[in-house]
Amino acid sequence: MKRIIFSNALLPSGWAHNVALEIDDQGIIAKVSLDDIDENLIVDGYALPGMNNIHSHAFQRAMAGLAEYATSEQDSFWTWRDIMYRFADKITAADLEVIATQLYLEMLKAGFVSVAEFHYLHHNEDGNLDMSHAIMNAALETGIGLCHLPVLYNSSGFGGLPLEEKQKRFGHDADGYINLLDDLLPIIQKNKDQNLGMALHSLRAVPENVLKECLDRNPTPGPIHIHISEQMQEVKDCIAWSGKRPVEWLYDNIDVDKRWCLIHATHLNDKEVKMIARSGAVVGLCPATEANLGDGLFPLRAYLDNGGQMAIGSDSHISISIVEELRLLEYGQRLKYQKRNIATSKQEMHSGTNLYLNALKGGAQASGFDNGVIEVGKRADIIVLDPASPLLAGTPVRHIIDRFIFNGNVNAVKNVFVGGSEVVSDYKHAREKQITGEFIETMERLKKVLD
Ligand code: ZN
Repeated sequence: MKRIIFSNALLPSGWAHNVALEIDDQGIIAKVSLDDIDENLIVDGYALPGMNNIHSHAFQRAMAGLAEYATSEQDSFWTWRDIMYRFADKITAADLEVIATQLYLEMLKAGFVSVAEFHYLHHNEDGNLDMSHAIMNAALETGIGLCHLPVLYNSSGFGGLPLEEKQKRFGHDADGYINLLDDLLPIIQKNKDQNLGMALHSLRAVPENVLKECLDRNPTPGPIHIHISEQMQEVKDCIAWSGKRPVEWLYDNIDVDKRWCLIHATHLNDKEVKMIARSGAVVGLCPATEANLGDGLFPLRAYLDNGGQMAIGSDSHISISIVEELRLLEYGQRLKYQKRNIATSKQEMHSGTNLYLNALKGGAQASGFDNGVIEVGKRADIIVLDPASPLLAGTPVRHIIDRFIFNGNVNAVKNVFVGGSEVVSDYKHAREKQITGEFIETMERLKKVLD
């Protein structure tokens, strides 16, 4: 049993002073008590439940910022994807581990306590499991929680079109995919900070028969993630194929429930907004990447009004920041409606607080981690904001999260605990120098591939 005392902590009942936590060997909060002070154990600051990063393609960290030049008048998601394919083809398991380790270090320092890795970079020359091990090792080396989501990728377009040459590395048939999950499950289950779920790349990459077979045979108890309705082209192609929009098709053909996380879901009509909200599924929003790729704006106001669940992810990693994701999410809506404080509710009038609490709740559900609240029985996944940061100076506690989200660009995440272990202490990770050193070496080597 471990004991930590926070000078201030956000409990379900609100902010409290001198909150003592007892944390068991599995990283679960066993006891919460107030005013039980031991000066030596106090962590000074504002303790909040840490955020789950709900969507990541780790290898893309290495190409972040390198697709920001015009290749044609019609530059789009699809031209970006060609650059991504060229790079993906060259990455070895060793490269992936180094890139993911640096990325996960950056996530922890930004206040993310876990990452849902939507992993489609399979088939290393040494075997298929190597690429998953690279991801699992990177999580272990940094101490971040991992929801590992090996991706099923089976076709190049709606209606089961065969994979293109450049997509072959991502591909599995149903047997190969279920075997991969079967192989990974016993390994991952040994680690309290890791879990395994299923990911379906998209409706264009998984034909109906393969989708249904894999859902029937799914050996994992974890979440089920899918990219959906990210681009208008995808919506048009889905209508041409089936007569239905992607979300509409999914709900008409599959029993979508709380296990599901719909990534992006950018283009929704009113009926689809209600369908998702009613099903209890989570929408995984990646506002920085969605802006970067020119995807469009998610109908946040309507979705929250219908009681929809949301989470956030850093996806292509052009930004690794809870602050930027939530800020952009709100600002997109403000620009659209020409109003302020859009993502509020009757219960929570502070937009920063409301966004953060919503993303915590949806993020816990869609990552398979029982966290997101500081209370008995939950994982001790906690971040601490620095009371000495000029960013937070003179802040009444009810404004703390708003100030964290909507004020400046200085990182205020001072300490990070994952399953009760302090992995970032006073802004530093214990292995930071070595991890970043290896990353810089690998990036120098990959420079030729990226040019
Ligand atoms: Zn994605």
